Amino acid sequence: MLQGQWIERGQKVVMNTYNRFPIVLSEGKGSFVKDVNGKEYLDFVGGIAVNALGYGDEDLTEALYQQMKKMMHCSNLYWNIPGIEAAEILIENSVFDKVFFCNSGAEAIESCIKLARKYGKMAHGEHCYEIITMKQSFHGRTMGAITATGQEKYQIGLHPLLEGIVYGNYNDFESVKELVSEKTCAILLEPVQGEGGILPAEKEFLAKIRELCTEKDILLIYDEVQCGIGRTGNLFAYQAYEIPPDVIALAKGLGGGFPIGAMMATEKAAAAFKPGDHASTFGGNPAACTAAKVVLNALLSKGILKNVKEQGKYLREKLEFLKEKYEVISDVRGIGLLQGIELSVPAGDIIKACIEKGLLLVGAGTNVIRFVPPLTVNQAEIDKALYILEESLKEA
Ligand SMILES: *Cc1c(COP(=O)(O)O)cnc(C)c1O
Repeated sequence: MLQGQWIERGQKVVMNTYNRFPIVLSEGKGSFVKDVNGKEYLDFVGGIAVNALGYGDEDLTEALYQQMKKMMHCSNLYWNIPGIEAAEILIENSVFDKVFFCNSGAEAIESCIKLARKYGKMAHGEHCYEIITMKQSFHGRTMGAITATGQEKYQIGLHPLLEGIVYGNYNDFESVKELVSEKTCAILLEPVQGEGGILPAEKEFLAKIRELCTEKDILLIYDEVQCGIGRTGNLFAYQAYEIPPDVIALAKGLGGGFPIGAMMATEKAAAAFKPGDHASTFGGNPAACTAAKVVLNALLSKGILKNVKEQGKYLREKLEFLKEKYEVISDVRGIGLLQGIELSVPAGDIIKACIEKGLLLVGAGTNVIRFVPPLTVNQAEIDKALYILEESLKEA
């Protein structure tokens, strides 16, 4: 069947919530993906920072297949082995003591919001429930997460929002400090703002916030849904800054394409949850945790983090070079394989031109093009991507 016919069928039955490109993708290998017409694309979207090991990773698919044959789901009335093992790897390689598994980024954030409120009330009293988040942030689409998201455009038509969330300016410590009161239970932020336009936090900003949170016994929560799991060349983005939070939200790359999210917390913060306080039917499911296990082991043992550092540096240098050459690029920002270029022309036009030439890219914020290829991407693929990008810039 033709691609257009599939899209017509989809439009009839699938709710109209996405601005999709008129492409039906059907298979992929490594950094490449094909549509139903057989056209091949180099993919620098990677399922939006999800396909950490690229498409069709043999170890990941084989481990999932074996686990699915054995047992796909068993509920949290019981323990399961992949759930324990995935949690062990996360804990052994971080500053945290406990994990809660869920299914997505928004759910991980929702878990953080609930834990923060429980903690505030336990540590300081009933009045302590307010959470400070940042303008231009993005935390997901549930009512709690969308309230935490400091961008009105995502909140239109959804009021009343969750109570008790206030917004500071990113990288502006004084604006955050001004919001702190005896009501504050947590500060939530992305170490690198993703959807907001690939904006890394300044180290001094994070350091001051860390100090303030410690002094006032306020939980510091990092949303590493996009910037965690190897993106920065470290397993976690907080390691790139050497400024750890008390609580962290993970998802996207964690399952390498299989849906899984997680919240981790230090013992002190995690103690605010008691049995019955939070749950998820699918959370910590053996199939999803098998995927996480394979991804984490690959990142920790196969030199992938080193690859992210090297290829991230190479990509960055080439983007900086393009910036010198093309006036339409006004800024290059990011860490590791989470890079963005800000443009003075509509990013959408350049992205469209790149797609036509066989390169998938995605925007972020206003007029930013984001580069989030698989963490396994190689130099030849970066060369090819930037060749296509340059051809498209020439036409702009
Ligand atoms: C994508 C994203 C989310 C939401 O994740 P979902 O899995 O779509 O719910 C939350 N926070 C950040 C930083 C994200 O990039």
